[in-house]
Amino acid sequence: MEPITGWVLWRDTPKSPASFRWGTLSSGLSFHEEKTPGAGPWITPGLVDVHAHLGIGETGPAGQEDALRAAQTNWNSGVTAIREPGSPTPPVDASPLTVIRAGRHIARPKRYLRGLAIELENPNDLPKVVAQQTQTSDGWVKLVGDWIDRSNGADSDLDPLWDTHILVDAVAAAHDNGARVAVHAFSRPAIDSLLEARVDTIEHGSGMTFDHAVEAARLGIAVTPTLGQVELFPSFAGDAKKKYPRYAHTMTELFDHRYQWFDDLRSAGVQLLPGTDAGGYQPHGEIQTELQRWVDYGMTETEVVDLATWRARDFLGLPSLHPEGPEEFVIFEERPALTKPVSVVGGADLLQCRRA
Ligand SMILES: [Zn+2]
Repeated sequence: MEPITGWVLWRDTPKSPASFRWGTLSSGLSFHEEKTPGAGPWITPGLVDVHAHLGIGETGPAGQEDALRAAQTNWNSGVTAIREPGSPTPPVDASPLTVIRAGRHIARPKRYLRGLAIELENPNDLPKVVAQQTQTSDGWVKLVGDWIDRSNGADSDLDPLWDTHILVDAVAAAHDNGARVAVHAFSRPAIDSLLEARVDTIEHGSGMTFDHAVEAARLGIAVTPTLGQVELFPSFAGDAKKKYPRYAHTMTELFDHRYQWFDDLRSAGVQLLPGTDAGGYQPHGEIQTELQRWVDYGMTETEVVDLATWRARDFLGLPSLHPEGPEEFVIFEERPALTKPVSVVGGADLLQCRRA
């Protein structure tokens, strides 16, 4: 391939934080004398969106063409891998984008967006259905952990969907089948049982306290904070205010607490995973917007780019750059991971580079 020289995001050991070093990528990777930091280009492993739904469109399940377009949009934004935590649509061949599927959302009747989830009449069926989903997914399952329970009229609020003992059995069923469990949770009351059941990731997690975060860090439970979704909480509250004032109040409180919450997750040492929740409420291809929010909430740019590349890839078991040459990589002219890339190399492109 045509050699490229620039600031390469690199780390010496999996424990050390990644930093930019002046080097050249060709058939292998080599580093040169340190140059004074200045202009780019910057080269990073492929970005990851750990929470994006190719199979969900604006009004429900996405068609095959829309899912493919969403995959291309992700790729063009520098995202070379996504984890798809729940999709009602049959998988598309999104290559070169790597897609790690978590089967379909599992919920209870009327306790998730209409038409997207498997809805269990009997919550005791959860472990069985989880085990079934592991057979067709890519090593993940997705549970809806809390949602508004509209059967309580004006008192309706976010409530957990599952008793703790059922969750414990369901997570065990996934782990016995070699799969990990991602759980949607906005509210505070849902979190204790997720920690007790030792789920693998908490999606959103906006109700987590500092103590929750400490426990999650201790157990190795990661959190996908989806700040773009948290920013929508005032609109969710506004829409519901008349009919469901308690729920509206809960959403408003979670939103008002957002900066402290994000600080708590960081200072407790929880692994944070980048996720846009694209598909449905959020557009695809906007990982930069999400990561810019992480900076606005107090993280450094280097921390953010490390989490969105090396750390997220580790977490999903995906390869990154290595000394013999890259699997796939992304080139930025400015602010890596926070601006759109100038090119994304991988898949067929990389094969062509190798042949050249
Ligand atoms: Zn989602």
